[in-house]
Formats: sequence, structure tokens, C-alpha cells
Amino acid sequence: MFRTMRSHELHIPAWFSASELQPHADRLIRYMLQSEYSKGTLHAYRNAIAHFAHWMTKHEVALSKLDEVSIGRFLSQHLPECHCGALRQRSLYTVRAALKLLMRFLRSEGVVGPAQSTDPPKWLATACEHFCLAASVAAPSV
Ligand SMILES: [Zn+2]
Repeated sequence: MFRTMRSHELHIPAWFSASELQPHADRLIRYMLQSEYSKGTLHAYRNAIAHFAHWMTKHEVALSKLDEVSIGRFLSQHLPECHCGALRQRSLYTVRAALKLLMRFLRSEGVVGPAQSTDPPKWLATACEHFCLAASVAAPSV
């Protein structure tokens, strides 16, 4: 199991218990422990997921609405300006990996829906095709 918490980690249980992730916490921990990650990585992931749970609670992000866009907001807007206390997470790579693991778990449990494509939407691809066609027609032949 996880080691004893250090002083800067003592608020983690409170962050989990106040969040919508609480009913899934035990299964999430079992899911994490079944992985091939080292204990150090699992501690970092637990802290990152607790931090994200705290942010979800604070910003009223419903678990059922959780998706990669919400995670992107947390990573790109919250982390650089974070004032959540001693649990500073400087490694974007670690936090992103932890949240990917969280989403894999939540999808395996059927708690959140399938991932949405982050590719450009079809209307954008179509607009680009029209632009390129118009540009080739308008360009003088050499
Ligand atoms: Zn924070």
C-alpha cells in the first residue's frame, strides 16, 4: 500500500473525500496498485489525482462531464498559477500521465464516456480544402 503521508500530503484524504471521486477511490487505488508503476511513481500519481480532485470540487466540474478538455484546462491554466498549498506539482509530464491513468480507470468503470477525438473537426478540414482549392485556382501559373 502507499507509504505514510508526509506533512505536505496530509490534506490529500480530505481532497479526495470532498470530491466526486470519493466513491471510486478504493477501486482507483487497487487499479493503480495492479499496474507496473514503481511506488514512487504511484505516490506522485496519487498526489496529482488528489490535486485534480480538489480542483474539480473547487470549480464544480462534474465527474460525469469530465473529459480531456477539463484536464487540459487544469494542466494549462491551473497548474502554472496553482495556489493550492505545499503540494506543488512542477512536472507537467507526471501530472498529465497521472490524469491519463485516471481517465483510463474511469472509462473502464463506465463512469465517463469514451474519449473524444482531438483531431480538427470535419468543418475545419473542409474549410481548409476549400481554401487550398481557391488558392490554387487564384494563383498564377508559372
Ligand atoms: Zn492547485
